[in-house]
Amino acid sequence: MKRSASAALFERAKKVIPGGVNSPVRAFKAVGGEPVFLAKGSGARIWDVDGNEYLDYCASWGPLILGHAHPGVVEAAIAAARDGSTFGAPTEREVRLAETLRAAIPSVEKVRLNSSGTEAVMSALRVARAATGREAILKFEGCFHGHADALLVKAGSGVATLGLPDSPGVPSGVAKLTLTARYNDLADVDRCFTEAKTAGTPIAAVILEPVVGNMGVVVPKPGFLAGLRKACDANGSLLIFDEVITGFRLTYGGYQDIAGVKADLTTLGKILGGGMPIGAYGGRADLMNLVAPEGSVYQAGTLSGNPVAVAAGLATLAELAKPGVYEGLEKMTARLAKGLEDGAKKAGVTVRVQRLGSMLTVFFASEEIVDWPGAATADRGAFGKWHRALLDRGVYWPPAQFEAAFVSTAHTEADIDRTVAAAAEAFPAVL
Ligand SMILES: *Cc1c(COP(=O)(O)O)cnc(C)c1O
Repeated sequence: MKRSASAALFERAKKVIPGGVNSPVRAFKAVGGEPVFLAKGSGARIWDVDGNEYLDYCASWGPLILGHAHPGVVEAAIAAARDGSTFGAPTEREVRLAETLRAAIPSVEKVRLNSSGTEAVMSALRVARAATGREAILKFEGCFHGHADALLVKAGSGVATLGLPDSPGVPSGVAKLTLTARYNDLADVDRCFTEAKTAGTPIAAVILEPVVGNMGVVVPKPGFLAGLRKACDANGSLLIFDEVITGFRLTYGGYQDIAGVKADLTTLGKILGGGMPIGAYGGRADLMNLVAPEGSVYQAGTLSGNPVAVAAGLATLAELAKPGVYEGLEKMTARLAKGLEDGAKKAGVTVRVQRLGSMLTVFFASEEIVDWPGAATADRGAFGKWHRALLDRGVYWPPAQFEAAFVSTAHTEADIDRTVAAAAEAFPAVL
């Protein structure tokens, strides 16, 4: 594959953009080689600036559950832009999106829109701290919640991938208020509650990805989420589900409804914007009523509830509400997972394909992965080799081991089978 146009752009980009990219993991450092610059996407396919075609499983890191440039979403966004792309004043569509979210996720009684998952999480934590009058929070090692100071502590995703320590620039006073526990380990959670109480800084909220995407796909053990609910109630702490990935990915609504565990606050993003920038946080009305101007917890945004993003989001959710969507995704992704497992086995390569619904990770590891120390044992070098071999065969897999790959409604059985064949050819590259 010729990639000279991408290479030239990367050189130009590095002169004017840190690392040549606007988000670290895009630089391909975790897999070696250089990033491809993309020019176009349609359905399950993307094309780079050299004209190479790829089947896409990155899906812009999760938002594109309908694939690229879905006609209904594009039309909705264009129509909204024609009517004026932003007013800084309330619009009808925002009310419709809020009503749609409330109807889809029972624990979300009121919701505030903003422009990114990072913002949503930051704001939810502020509400939780205000509501409880407490300052400490508990997160899980390997979970990623965006790049707010308080959450860049033992974070997954790009932070884990690059092996960066907790980021410089995060004040130690802030980091000190973030406790971290091991995912899927309720005893470790109890330890944190006790330590926090003893230190005189009780925990305002526990935040987690109810299914982890950001250390690769890791599923909660039976009873883990219910146990957290119980521990939070016993300790007067709030439970925040960060459903920025899982919201509308695994069902029409939140994973919390599959799990049967109610969060006090929920954060959303990604799919919600249909490929446009968006975030949202919502939950119990008594908590959300603390937010200004109803209450005194300040949170604002020039482009919050942006008409184009909201229109794209509404169009996306309307598609997802149609019957059979999630069953189709399940069937297609199961086929992919099975094909990948078979391909690895045939090549004599040990992998664990971890999947829930249409999100999956191929861990180059031998044991089932249930937490970050487990994920960290995965062979990143092997993953990088496999990734490059896949890319050369026209498959764009997310360029890091500790990430989820996503199947969209645009992926056909033929696409999946082509991917499986490419993967089977790529596995021997790791030996
Ligand atoms: C992507 C992500 C975020 C951050 O969202 P941005 O829109 O990138 O700021 C937060 N939480 C989770 C679980 C995510 O996957």
